[in-house]
Amino acid sequence: MAENVVVVGSGPAGLTAALYTARANLEPLIVEGAAPMGQLMLTTDVENYPGFPDGILGPELMEKFRGQAERFGAKFITADATRVDLSRRPFVVEVGEATYEASALIIATGATARMLGIKGEREYLGRGVSTCATCDGFFFRGVPLVVVGGGDSAMEEASFLTRFASKVTVVHRRAALRASKIMQDRAFANEKIDFIWDTDVREVKGSDGKVTTLELSNARTGEVSTIDVGGLFVAIGHDPNTALFTGQLELNDAGYINVQHPRTATSVDGVFACGDVVDHIYRQAVTAAGMGCSAAIDAERWLEAQGH
Ligand code: NAP
Repeated sequence: MAENVVVVGSGPAGLTAALYTARANLEPLIVEGAAPMGQLMLTTDVENYPGFPDGILGPELMEKFRGQAERFGAKFITADATRVDLSRRPFVVEVGEATYEASALIIATGATARMLGIKGEREYLGRGVSTCATCDGFFFRGVPLVVVGGGDSAMEEASFLTRFASKVTVVHRRAALRASKIMQDRAFANEKIDFIWDTDVREVKGSDGKVTTLELSNARTGEVSTIDVGGLFVAIGHDPNTALFTGQLELNDAGYINVQHPRTATSVDGVFACGDVVDHIYRQAVTAAGMGCSAAIDAERWLEAQGH
């Protein structure tokens, strides 16, 4: 028997879709992934999720999302989907050796922030290393910060962080920015932003669980230097997790899934998408959760229209 709804992904979007489809009595099956519950599992305090005026830890918030969906009958598989076939009805979702069929499919596989892959970066993630200024900037009052990257995201994050930091230094691997002219001009005009050109960050160092120093290396001369910081923001782009769907669904140039905004319908009838795998602009837990709700309602109505 095919499942009514399979949700692939378990961040705020996937788990909200799970909650809403579960409460609609659709008994959704959630393929939650081998590393479930999304990017908030990599953060510490979340102070901008409405309803938690004192803040909440990212992993604790996600456990609450999951528990709430489970309470209404969502079923979970803790493994990655390995293949999907959207050309057949019901749709096919493979998880290793196991095969599931789905009358409707909700994709909420999210995006992954690109990381530098340097020593200390993972160790200090959520403890001084961040990939989201909107989420974490507030925690860096009065300290010097480094932003890595030369695109619009890096300029936006650097400008935003000047509200909190004593100073922001943008470290870019080349001598020219990739960011749009307007974003560049804004950053150049900001007295609290400095630039270090032609330079890679080589290592994140700290003590007592806090980032204190970055080791830098000049990309032309190889000269090594250090800079004292209170935090490092890595802003070198995101990759949507769409490898499973390439060639089966319409994606935009950057690889994000195209939906019929404000609806969540994709280019394949009966397949819906929500959260960061669609949204490269807002990328917030609360916007992802909102879109997860929309996808659940869209799927529910679609199933009903099919006479399901
Ligand atoms: P992006 O445009 O791809 O820029 C990534 C930046 O990171 C580039 O400067 C790149 O350097 C650098 N980089 C990549 N890998 C690196 C590595 N391993 N080590 C060091 N540096 C590395 O990504 P984005 O800034 O996230 O922007 C993505 C898209 O969203 C763009 O289309 C952008 O216009 C859009 N966006 C728009 C706004 C806005 O308009 N408000 C805000 C954010 C994003 P190189 O330059 O040397 O390649």
